[in-house]
Amino acid sequence: MYPSEFDYHRVERVDDALDLLVDDPDAKILSGGHSLIPMMKSGLANPGTLVDIGEIEELDGIEWDDDAVSVGALTTYATIADDDELWDELPVLAEAAHEVGDIQVRNRGTIGGNVAHGDPASDLPAAVLAADATVVVQGVDGKRRIDVDDFFLGMYATELGEDEILTGLEFPRRESDAAGAYVKKPSPSSGYALVGVAVSLEVDGGRIDSARVAANGIMDHAVRLEPVEERLVGETVEEVSFEDAAQVADDDLEEFMMMDDIQASAEFRRQLLKVYTEEALNDAADRLDASLPTA
Ligand SMILES: Cc1cc2nc3c(=O)[nH]c(=O)nc-3n(C[C@H](O)[C@H](O)[C@H](O)COP(=O)(O)OP(=O)(O)OC[C@H]3O[C@@H](n4cnc5c(N)ncnc54)[C@H](O)[C@@H]3O)c2cc1C
Repeated sequence: MYPSEFDYHRVERVDDALDLLVDDPDAKILSGGHSLIPMMKSGLANPGTLVDIGEIEELDGIEWDDDAVSVGALTTYATIADDDELWDELPVLAEAAHEVGDIQVRNRGTIGGNVAHGDPASDLPAAVLAADATVVVQGVDGKRRIDVDDFFLGMYATELGEDEILTGLEFPRRESDAAGAYVKKPSPSSGYALVGVAVSLEVDGGRIDSARVAANGIMDHAVRLEPVEERLVGETVEEVSFEDAAQVADDDLEEFMMMDDIQASAEFRRQLLKVYTEEALNDAADRLDASLPTA
């Protein structure tokens, strides 16, 4: 199918993009185009104006400072998945980016587009929840920083305002031993996550000091699995049972809110959630073992 007619603007400054968003209430930001263009072609989105931000250089790339790593909104999955430093310090993000679609999608799709889109079956939302991100957005009145726990609101619904641009994400750097992992059961037809689970663990003196565990594909938006986190904190990595911790993965999830569709029933997703939670925890623990100094 062909999209309906629209105006197209390519901009090189965030302020110019924001002006265009304010001018046309039906305007949409275009980043990698790997969700928006298919939606336009199938008639699910009909923007009056496309604001192509792909050439705003300041939104592209990864920057490190002492406290945080900042990933610009236009950074592609391929750039993230190919970054050795991210695999060392933020493997949950690198692995989630690596798991997206295929190489063509990873070369074009962006972290900002993925997070802004708020698709419940996308891979990045669980990863950025587990990684304790801060989402940085900009509107005509300036920037604001949103705790990722407050960002995902529902199916394709986020805290991002209509006239705002997601400019990047910031991830705290860890002082203690830390590791993470992302695993997913891909849909056989689309490759999107039927269920994906992201884990970040921090360990101090052999005990789990902090655990963030999040999942996508099970509800209308990515969610933290707080009962699992509570089971883990305070346990030693050597003795904790990840199988037992994974058993409580769905404790806080309301039955009627579980995704149940042509791709997978709610019951199947529930079973996948436990299996993949245990697998993600084991993978993160293996990475912890690998990074701890040997005696
Ligand atoms: C064949 C195929 C397979 C795929 N498989 C997967 C998969 O396995 N896992 C997965 O997670 N995804 C998958 N995707 C989706 C892909 O990850 C998209 O890239 C992603 O959902 C959106 O990112 P984008 O940069 O392409 O954004 P776009 O498509 O350009 O935009 C998506 C939406 O976000 C808005 N937007 C984009 N950037 C910003 C911004 N900076 N600020 C504010 N709003 C913004 C747009 O206006 C639009 O509404 C797949 C896509 C295809 C075509």
